[in-house]
Amino acid sequence: MKNIKIAIDGPAAAGKSTVAQLVAKQLNFVYIDTGAMYRAVTVYCLWNDIDCRDEQKVASVLDNINITLYPDHSISLNDRDVTKEIRSTIVNENVSYIAANKEVRYFLVKQQRKIAENVSVVMDGRDIGTYVLPNADVKIFQIASVDTRAKRRYLENIQKGIPCSLESITKELEKRDYIDSHRELAPLKKADDAISLDTSNMTIEEVVNAIMDIIYRKVGNVHA
Ligand code: C5P
Repeated sequence: MKNIKIAIDGPAAAGKSTVAQLVAKQLNFVYIDTGAMYRAVTVYCLWNDIDCRDEQKVASVLDNINITLYPDHSISLNDRDVTKEIRSTIVNENVSYIAANKEVRYFLVKQQRKIAENVSVVMDGRDIGTYVLPNADVKIFQIASVDTRAKRRYLENIQKGIPCSLESITKELEKRDYIDSHRELAPLKKADDAISLDTSNMTIEEVVNAIMDIIYRKVGNVHA
């Protein structure tokens, strides 16, 4: 059977990764969290006191960065597990600068395309349908109001014991969305042939079911 590519894009904290993981599990496809890769590059720069806005300096260290994504959704950076570290507040605050760097994007997009080459995948990010996998079989643009996204992230943090305020999360999401949508290369944008899904008033289960319906309608029964 032909390998199937499913692209799920959308703004920060729209629930893409939760849903993409569940869809990949149902279909027995590989799940690729591209945001985690930009986050890992950010962690590397923070470890090495590199200003994430210094494009040339960041570009000059890319050859030293080795990122591995594992089937259990953990991630390592130069053989160190950074699964938790990539979700820290300082990474949230800096990752969009890293993601606006063209050299970083070329570096990571090449790896993302390679991973997707010979397998069926569900890949989530900002530019999957427009740039990384423009020929994806199914493209979803998952959105939710900023209030909903901030509340979801706030509750998630409280559950994990991460101190935060709703106001600071709202500001961080708005700032990240702005930078992601206004960068020069592959900005956050709905692909012309993507289907928009507003999940503001939907449960995770409803979103997964809606995406599974779209997949079945577009490509039939594709369980790997
Ligand atoms: O999806 P997540 O919030 O983990 O992504 C973190 C950041 O990585 C985003 O805010 C964005 O700046 C960047 N990103 C990107 N392109 C992708 C995935 C993530 O620019 N395909």
